[in-house]
Amino acid sequence: MAYQISNDCISCGACADACPNGCISEGDGKYEINESECIECGTCASVCPVEAPSAK
Ligand code: SF4
Ligand code: SF4
Repeated sequence: MAYQISNDCISCGACADACPNGCISEGDGKYEINESECIECGTCASVCPVEAPSAK
């Protein structure tokens, strides 16, 4: 289990700045989470304006 970012992402970058583990980076058209490093803290979901990150 890890968090994933849906296609709703508008690439604002807020989650990447907030992630305590530094495992979010800008990808092709949306931001992406390095799932092997995600500790499932939920910070990205709490700061995202469009609720794109969620636990899968
Ligand atoms: S759940 Fe936490 S560790 Fe995982 S990507 Fe989101 S902010 Fe980073
Ligand atoms: S905070 Fe939400 S909209 Fe902004 S880059 Fe992260 S996932 Fe995308």
